[in-house]
Amino acid sequence: MSKNISAVKKLSRNLWWSWDTEAKTLFKSLSPLLWERVNHNPVELLRHISTDELEARCSCELGITIDRVNRRFNDYMAETKTWATEHAPQVVSNPVAYFSAEFGIHESIRIYSGGLGILSGDHLKSASDLGINFIGISLFYKEGYFRQFLNHDGWQIEDYPLQYPESLPVEKVTTIDGKDLIIEITIAQSTVFAQAWSLKVGRATLYLLDTNIPVNESHYREICSRVYGGDQNMRINQEILLGIGGVKLLEALKIQPSVYHMNEGHSAFLTLELLAREIAAGATLEEAKNLVKEQCVFTTHTPVPAGHDRFSRDMMQYTFFRYLNLVGIDFEEIMKLGSDNPENTSGLFTMTVLALRLSRCANGVSKLHGEVSREMWKHLYSTDDTRQVPIGHITNGIHTRSWSSGFTEQFWKNHAESIEELFLSRESAEAVLSRVSDSELWCLRYRLKRNLMDYISRYLSNQLYHQHQYTSYKSTDSSRSVKSALSPDVLTLGFARRFATYKRAPLIFQDLDRLNAIVNNANMPVQIIFAGKAHPHDDAGKEYIRQIVEHSRRPQFVGKVVFLENYNIGVAKRLISGVDIWLNNPVRPMEASGTSGQKTVLHGGLNLSIIDGWWCEAYNGTNGWSIGSGEENGNYDEQYRFDAGKLYEVLEHQIIPTFYERNEHNLPVRWLKNIRNAIATIAPVYNTDRMVREYTMRYYLKEPRP
Ligand SMILES: *Cc1c(COP(=O)(O)O)cnc(C)c1O
Repeated sequence: MSKNISAVKKLSRNLWWSWDTEAKTLFKSLSPLLWERVNHNPVELLRHISTDELEARCSCELGITIDRVNRRFNDYMAETKTWATEHAPQVVSNPVAYFSAEFGIHESIRIYSGGLGILSGDHLKSASDLGINFIGISLFYKEGYFRQFLNHDGWQIEDYPLQYPESLPVEKVTTIDGKDLIIEITIAQSTVFAQAWSLKVGRATLYLLDTNIPVNESHYREICSRVYGGDQNMRINQEILLGIGGVKLLEALKIQPSVYHMNEGHSAFLTLELLAREIAAGATLEEAKNLVKEQCVFTTHTPVPAGHDRFSRDMMQYTFFRYLNLVGIDFEEIMKLGSDNPENTSGLFTMTVLALRLSRCANGVSKLHGEVSREMWKHLYSTDDTRQVPIGHITNGIHTRSWSSGFTEQFWKNHAESIEELFLSRESAEAVLSRVSDSELWCLRYRLKRNLMDYISRYLSNQLYHQHQYTSYKSTDSSRSVKSALSPDVLTLGFARRFATYKRAPLIFQDLDRLNAIVNNANMPVQIIFAGKAHPHDDAGKEYIRQIVEHSRRPQFVGKVVFLENYNIGVAKRLISGVDIWLNNPVRPMEASGTSGQKTVLHGGLNLSIIDGWWCEAYNGTNGWSIGSGEENGNYDEQYRFDAGKLYEVLEHQIIPTFYERNEHNLPVRWLKNIRNAIATIAPVYNTDRMVREYTMRYYLKEPRP
């Protein structure tokens, strides 16, 4: 194998390429068509190209690029002076072990469902960039999260294509003598075996546990089938594998973390295995609790009581009895740790409660969510004074390099040393912006919108083809044809995320006549793009999808409202770079943070959101728009009507006129000013480099600062 081919293969096996534009372009240029077909997966791409072809192309036309990318990759991996070596050597010598039920790293690795996973993936990438010794732990879901299709009626159909290790950049974890590393965990009366896979994400490693091996009983093999699949029993088994299995894996690998970070309560059972370890070393239960607490930090993501993972006492007893006997912990003591009131252990066991009780510090994911969490959990600390509740906040961000399109990155590079200058600090962002003219900025917007409109047009023709496949009867309805060509001249709104009902995707359709007048105003038209998956068990969420699809087929909305099926990281990247307005209208305060709106900013997109999550602290009146001013009614229907009214108002009176107001050079000067303000105030703050630095200084280093 030539040196160049092995370099390309090596690059394909570290996800570093996913945030390096030149590396991405390199893979794509091998075969643009195949690149699309394999869902931008270089491992799969290289499996489909013959060595002869690779040999010919790598030795000649691509040689220089390969050399350059490879050199940058090697330099990155070998860097010895990083932010972490300078500021936090403790997390260089001993790794941070970060547990999460999902990781969204790239669209080709389908082990995520939504925002929580994207956050984990972005956290991992920034930790790598900052030089933190960082290990992620999750599960290898063979079917991943589903692929979404829409049938003729707009109803969501789920499909679960398998993902195979040989198509992914994963390596099986082996022992020193080359055997598969197998760990054992106890679930109910059974011993369950798990192997592990590792995935390189820059300098960080993600380990994925996998019970899908022949020695296991079939229902335990299925633990690793689907992200958040199955019933409560499946859920608790997944969480045991993640938490307890994860700790056992680290032990088998002789890895001594400096801290265990539980990203959401799913992994909180890890504390039980840590307790067991301390007790085995001679500690009493009380001592063990304190020792475990010293090692753990916890991030909560759920601002509503109903959203927290809870298990019945019976299920806990059935599932843990044997395990607890083996490790010598009294079942009652464990129930106390997970019960809201330790005096009464007959009720539900709550993962968040366990995590809060056994962490040295905990945080919500935005300022507002911190407040909501302190209120929600104050009873655990026997206080009415929320200032006494030891839950802080660190606001979520995004891994900016991953979320900037190649074109956007090139644009900023024409005005700066690197795109980093835009998210380093407000001052450096403003300096870059001062070198960009309004017409250049507007040109960027048009270019990105044109890309998006072309993409959507291809995407929809594909989608209609699928819809016919899933159609029970043939339709000749003319509105079903691809008349829905969107225009880059038109003010474009995007709404895409999980279709959890609290996010209220159909809010903008509350008054169809008013919406009709808005989108079909001949001088100032508007178009709206929707996408998103409902959880397979969430019929209310699926009904929201169906309603939007139905609206999109009404004569007045054809060509103005579209729904793109199968929302995922790849689709997200397209949407956030092309839309003018990223719309977010959850029920406040149910959006703990939200991050998708942060992704649009460097592309010149603007946010329009309920004052909730990150927007509550980022919105300043000149960097986007708000829907209302944070009113909370408590009655879903009343709030719905109220917020819809506020949404129409801000569109009609502020957003639309600002967008269509042009100066003598046909530039929307006030709009562009908003874009500049958004970039300067949002990009430098709402990124995971800042976020991970905060986690490190305030939570990972031993002395937590409140
Ligand atoms: C960023 C992102 C999310 C997060 O969406 P929010 O509603 O803003 O939390 C969800 N899914 C995908 C695919 C994303 O890229």
